[in-house]
Amino acid sequence: MDKIIGFLALQQFIYGIGWLVGIRLIPEIRRVGIWLSGFAILSGLYFSISPTHGETVTSWHIYSAQFVILLVMVMVRRANEALFFEPYRWKEDASLIVLFLMIVLWTFSVPMQTSVVVMTASFIVLWMGIRTVVLSYRSISNEFGLTITLLVNMPIIFFLLVKGVQAFAIIDHQMIILDPNTGRLESKWYLALLLALTGLMHVNYVVMLLKRLIQDLNKMTKTDVLTNVMNRRAAEEALCRELSETTRNGDAFTIFMIDIDFFKSVNDRYGHAKGDEVLRGVCKCMRETVRKNDYVARFGGEEFLIILPHTLVESAVELADRIRQKVADLRFESDDIRITISIGITQSDTNDTVMEHIVSRADKALYRSKECGRNQINVNTKILNACSL
Ligand code: GH3
Ligand code: MG
Ligand code: MG
Repeated sequence: MDKIIGFLALQQFIYGIGWLVGIRLIPEIRRVGIWLSGFAILSGLYFSISPTHGETVTSWHIYSAQFVILLVMVMVRRANEALFFEPYRWKEDASLIVLFLMIVLWTFSVPMQTSVVVMTASFIVLWMGIRTVVLSYRSISNEFGLTITLLVNMPIIFFLLVKGVQAFAIIDHQMIILDPNTGRLESKWYLALLLALTGLMHVNYVVMLLKRLIQDLNKMTKTDVLTNVMNRRAAEEALCRELSETTRNGDAFTIFMIDIDFFKSVNDRYGHAKGDEVLRGVCKCMRETVRKNDYVARFGGEEFLIILPHTLVESAVELADRIRQKVADLRFESDDIRITISIGITQSDTNDTVMEHIVSRADKALYRSKECGRNQINVNTKILNACSL
């Protein structure tokens, strides 16, 4: 039995060290890792201060174990808050810890049955645990799903069930229930299960952090840093995907190739920083005008590509003109900058075997818009082929 406790403590310390090593290797996980390392090390401490075999359970053992458990809860709550960028709810934790310390101090001055102290402290731990599970439930399940939420919260739920049973048993029998085999609060099976569940919990935190890091990296490789819309690589990927849809089931889509008119003169007159502000403003305007599942991408310096899935060119022309008009109406802070855009439109065709086919058609239409005097849209498909608007 004591071997199990020693093993449990050692396992938790190793998890704690594991997180510290992880933080050194991947500084991005520092905020979460530091709290999880605290969680593991304090859990190890909790097992270390358990009374050894044959030793009677004293109030000291109980107070210190409950106090360490309170701190363990604080650590896991901070880890969740750090993971989901929520504000630290330190006031609630601090008040519960102060309440706990007041109860301990009170029992020193007024002799009280140990069972009453265990019961009261257990209820504070219960309250903290329930709040931890409830608060983390929404954030974890929103982002990572129900299975991960359950696996992460399992050791806490399990721990709470046991603590709850203990606390209510004390109310019922006015005594602390000890395991008949060990003479202690914890039974062998309870400890073994706790060992397995905390292991699972740490693995799941690693999975969540990895998923986040991969998502962030993915986003970084697909997003244009200046304008925050898709970059050219992501746009080309989306184009290839949409093209294979067209060749597979004839589901056509439409693209707009957009270029800002005389943008060089904006840079020359107002400076590069203002030019960047204009690029951001144009992207924001386009993003706000199209539907949620349309793609907006920065294709080159001041060239943009919009992909409208499941859209025929006839219905897209009106949208293109709305974008053109909105950009022409854009006003920028403090400066009298006015800009316009030229747009080339085309629709996908089952003969478009490679992306370059559709892009070059849209480019030709754009070129014609420039030639026809800029601030206008032009369509280039087999269906419509006219210099318009
Ligand atoms: P046109 O109407 O023929 O398109 O004229 P234009 O001046 O827009 O065309 P041109 O291709 O000559 O100029 C594009 C300019 O876009 C040149 C370049 O300095 C500017 N540019 C490209 N990328 C950026 C950027 O990231 N920030 C800023 N501020 N300017 C950029
Ligand atoms: Mg231009
Ligand atoms: Mg250009």
